[in-house]
Amino acid sequence: VKAIVFREGSNWAVEEVETPKPGPGEALLKVIQTGVCGTDEHLLHGGFIAKFPLIPGHEMVGQVVELGAGAEGVSIGDNVVVDNTVLCGECNACREGKDLFCENFGSLGCNMPGGFAEFVVVRASKLYPIGDLSPDVAVFAEPTACAVHGVDVLDLPPASDVLIFGAGPTGLILSQLLKTAGAARVTVAAPTQSKLDVARDLGANHTVRISREDPAAAVEELRAIAPSGFDAVIEATGSPAVLELAVPLTKTGGTVMVYGVAAADAQASIKPYEIFSRELTIRGSFAQTHCIGRALFALQTGRVRTEGLITSRLGLDEFDRAIHNLHDSSEIKTIIAAPAA
Ligand SMILES: [Zn+2]
Ligand SMILES: [Zn+2]
Repeated sequence: VKAIVFREGSNWAVEEVETPKPGPGEALLKVIQTGVCGTDEHLLHGGFIAKFPLIPGHEMVGQVVELGAGAEGVSIGDNVVVDNTVLCGECNACREGKDLFCENFGSLGCNMPGGFAEFVVVRASKLYPIGDLSPDVAVFAEPTACAVHGVDVLDLPPASDVLIFGAGPTGLILSQLLKTAGAARVTVAAPTQSKLDVARDLGANHTVRISREDPAAAVEELRAIAPSGFDAVIEATGSPAVLELAVPLTKTGGTVMVYGVAAADAQASIKPYEIFSRELTIRGSFAQTHCIGRALFALQTGRVRTEGLITSRLGLDEFDRAIHNLHDSSEIKTIIAAPAA
């Protein structure tokens, strides 16, 4: 069977691999489709927690085709989404109930085989049947789960005023979820007008176009929306320059959340006196675990809508194109589906 395999030196190829066998408690999924995310590009170049050779792909929808001994909770034929995290349960972090920071953190598609393949093996306890939900909606379960975790971390008071920098899949999902979790008003700021239009369609109250070269030029327009600042500002672009803007745009006593993935050695400049005198909170939100169930519910109930988010569908052999799309501002989400067996 076929799978994309990443190897040392930023190389990838579609390779012929053995069909994985489900062990005890595991299920074999025939992959229906898998979303492409910026993390996949970091992984290709050895970033994040990459371990080569790697079959990438962590935003999977599949159909259960075989169950290992004792695998429970799903049946053959079920369409499912996957909580791709694998936690040891025994390290210090796990024993303190902070298992997202498991010292032996495993992640299907990051350091264990994932879904850019015809088949993948997953622990049955990590599967969530989607019933008759369209795979085109369900494929957003993993990025929505990361957004659910972000909303948990942000812990917004009711009737908050929130600004999000970034209108990629993450910004577009967060902008909707926040409305169910305390935000009375959401403003989305991003460089691409077509994405801001989607944000509007999905319920953002205000959208502001920012320049990639000079994001600070948008400060005046953002200040006009919230003259005393926003209760929370979410940096969902990964740009240090945008994080530097986020701090002064946050209301006194408010929160800045770092959600976007910056380069590991990137640095931003923040005034300690401002954090001190205005009692600002800076929080991070990293990935997710245990949030897929709520994410799926948000998608099933239409609290998070995904119309217009899938902009490309590619085969396994078109991964170069998928990487290209990550840098094409007219693209939002690329989906990879294995060719029908
Ligand atoms: Zn991702
Ligand atoms: Zn652990």
